[in-house]
Amino acid sequence: MSAQWITILGATGSIGLSTLDVVARHPQKYNVFALTGKTKVHVLAQQCQIHRPKYAVVMDVDAAQQLEVLLVSFKVSTEILVGIDALCAVSSDSNVDIVMAAIVGAAGLVPTLAAVNANKKVLLANKESLVMAGHLFMEALKHSSGVLLPIDSEHNAIFQCLPQGKNDLSAAGVSKLLLSASGGPFRGWTAQQMEHVTPEQACAHPNWSMGNKISVDSATLMNKGLELIEACWLFDMKENQIEIVVHPQSIIHSLVQYVDGSVIAQLGNPDMRTPIAHALAWPDRIDSGVKNLDLFDISRLDFEKPNFNDFPCLELAFEAARIGLDAPATLNAANEVAVQAFLDKRIGFTQIADVVKESMSVAIFNEPESLVVVQETDLKARSLATAYISRITS
Ligand code: NDP
Ligand code: MG
Repeated sequence: MSAQWITILGATGSIGLSTLDVVARHPQKYNVFALTGKTKVHVLAQQCQIHRPKYAVVMDVDAAQQLEVLLVSFKVSTEILVGIDALCAVSSDSNVDIVMAAIVGAAGLVPTLAAVNANKKVLLANKESLVMAGHLFMEALKHSSGVLLPIDSEHNAIFQCLPQGKNDLSAAGVSKLLLSASGGPFRGWTAQQMEHVTPEQACAHPNWSMGNKISVDSATLMNKGLELIEACWLFDMKENQIEIVVHPQSIIHSLVQYVDGSVIAQLGNPDMRTPIAHALAWPDRIDSGVKNLDLFDISRLDFEKPNFNDFPCLELAFEAARIGLDAPATLNAANEVAVQAFLDKRIGFTQIADVVKESMSVAIFNEPESLVVVQETDLKARSLATAYISRITS
């Protein structure tokens, strides 16, 4: 088979780097069509020098000018494109086979949806887009000859443990999904103990190395909440069919329980190159560069129930999942604003949940029937969250 062309949205981020690491191990299988970034122009330029994509996309003219200077000095002929329309163009180009959706946050929604609509094999890391507009994705997928493969390690694990080719999971004997959670850097802490933690502490995850936003989400457990909603959409499950299992070693990435008492789990070292390689090659398997799991080295695996009281973001996400409508989009937007305010040291760690709770309590939820409605909800929730932050910080 000839090599496949891949576009990597968010190439300069943590998932983007891991994807390029796997791709570079298989030059006969994958060619890089386009790489995209926003602020890390130097990283993008170096990636272009190594991987020689046809296109590099940045989000503004300043970044494009900086990139141009670097590419000229490297003698690289990659064409530079700018803006959201360019992200959609490199996601839907007829020469592209695979799109890695690894932009962080709501900004990933439009180009990821463009890839689904263009019948691509879409590797979904950008969970926020599914949380915001799950039904639009699922509807688009029904009309697409492409496929959506989960990159989030838990969802990738569940995908691997499910019976293949069966749409109705209850008819296939699946009774429950068990979603693993590491518990984050503050597992076992009380809300009071977490009041004064710094962004540096929140971003120091014990098992995974990730971008700042998802690191903070992992620390508040909002990441698990977003993943709950992500799992509901991906596997057509209700939130009460999904249980969160805190498993501090991050070796079992998630489990599927069947009606006959069987529980199937996927295990591996905590390294995102495993789900990335799995989805890239699916339905085949390729080397990911991840070292083999040594069970003797691990020796024990622990499990705990999540602490909803001290980590209120998890309960807020369950509530959004129960409400449905555009409540998840509201939750997601308020959380993005709150996490940024925490990273900027404008609010404290435990105030992230306050911002989300307040925004959810004043929002009026609607049917998210179109992309325009979802984007309006996103903007409204951002302004509610911003107004609340101004009130508590003035
Ligand atoms: P990073 O912050 O490391 O990377 C984000 C990427 O998105 C960067 O390339 C960044 O560009 C780009 N970007 C940021 N904002 C915009 C914007 N407004 N428009 C266009 N591009 C933008 O994040 P991660 O790689 O950690 O995470 C990416 C996604 O994958 C998230 O949705 C996350 O939840 C999900 N995920 C990540 C995991 C991980 O292990 N990291 C695990 C599971 C899921 P630049 O850096 O150049 O500014
Ligand atoms: Mg995950």
